[in-house]
Amino acid sequence: MTHEGGCLCGAVRFRCEGEPLNVRICHCRNCQKAMGSPFYARALFPQGALSVTGETARYASSEAIDRVFCGVCGTRLFTRRRNGTADGVALATFDNPDAFAPTEHIWVSEKIGWVKLDDGLPQHQRTVPP
Ligand SMILES: [Zn+2]
Repeated sequence: MTHEGGCLCGAVRFRCEGEPLNVRICHCRNCQKAMGSPFYARALFPQGALSVTGETARYASSEAIDRVFCGVCGTRLFTRRRNGTADGVALATFDNPDAFAPTEHIWVSEKIGWVKLDDGLPQHQRTVPP
């Protein structure tokens, strides 16, 4: 299964092969700030499953994670684990934004107060316990 997507201006395109490891909505403060958005909905893929064309820029938002965005239009596309294991891909940047549906919420302890979760999905205060 292949899913494609890209940034707003089209300078960056990407392709994901296979199925994601998980699909989650993260409410942590770091994701809120980095995305300029109440939360970050992403599909997580093994790093080798994601191929990218076009020029991206990155910012290390923590020791573990780079935020990867289009250097032209600024669309926030990926979170890249710096240990090389996995990449998060923002669900809204897929050509079909309904390609993957989240199955759980994480870091609900930092959720913005006016965000009301009534989708029935599991809610974890921090990350999902291993
Ligand atoms: Zn762009």
